Amino acid sequence: MSNALSHSQPKIIAIANQKGGVGKTTTSINLGAALAKTGYRVLLVDLDPQGNASTGLGIGSEKRISTTYDLLVHDASLSEVIQATAVEDMDIIPATTDLSSADIELLANEKRSFLLHDALRQPAISSYDYDYVLIDCPPSLNILTVNAMVAAHSVLVPLQSEFFALEGLSQLMMTVREVRETANSGLRIEGIVLTMYDKRNNLSQMVEADARENLGDLVFKTVIPRNVRVSEAPSYAMPVVDYDPNSKGSLAYFEVARELVSRHNSLKTKV
Ligand code: ADP
Ligand code: MG
Repeated sequence: MSNALSHSQPKIIAIANQKGGVGKTTTSINLGAALAKTGYRVLLVDLDPQGNASTGLGIGSEKRISTTYDLLVHDASLSEVIQATAVEDMDIIPATTDLSSADIELLANEKRSFLLHDALRQPAISSYDYDYVLIDCPPSLNILTVNAMVAAHSVLVPLQSEFFALEGLSQLMMTVREVRETANSGLRIEGIVLTMYDKRNNLSQMVEADARENLGDLVFKTVIPRNVRVSEAPSYAMPVVDYDPNSKGSLAYFEVARELVSRHNSLKTKV
């Protein structure tokens, strides 16, 4: 079944923020699963050597035979590295710690920033009929994150609702600008999603007000609340949208998915 953006090429979205622990992986897993459950076909690319997205979706290390590392460094084909997950309509390319050496191994490769771009544009991609490819980036602005930005149509930035949240953003935007100037002129900012929001905490409200004032419509209307069910779900190797579909965290991710899709649809009608 596909609600489909009726396409041959999927929308590719890099989920990036060079800070660790801000909700990139949680957003990749749960936005991906929410999109899959709303009728879209989704591929999640785990681009973090820590492999948390793989673990969180039940792809243990014994199942990570062919990985993102093989895709980037050994020219593996998509069919070698893509695996189904327990979530219907959601596949993954898993990651292992091998990926942490990619930086150095790729130094001599002049196409090093384009490896993921080229991999995701293998003609075989169309046979999977994906609507969305989400890339879970590592917590740094290294060559892996640059690969994600070169491959992507847009960048989605999870922002933790805490003090200093906006500070790292200018560095991230600088990297986006560099990628636009050198490799991917069409790269857009998909938006900012506030994560781990605690409405009883003044600080969360201040960060939200600050973000909306400075970044306007780029900030998704939906905020992701801090919710213990969200943090429990990965230990059951499930997205929260399966683990506890009616939890606040799950409902918020469904809402972010809806917002994302409606943004794309309104963009399409403008063209
Ligand atoms: P990143 O990928 O940016 O490093 P994660 O997605 O791994 O960040 O999140 C960091 C930690 O915060 C994880 O333990 C995760 O379970 C927890 N977490 C993320 N989002 C929420 C949330 N909305 N409510 C509660 N805990 C969350
Ligand atoms: Mg992560």
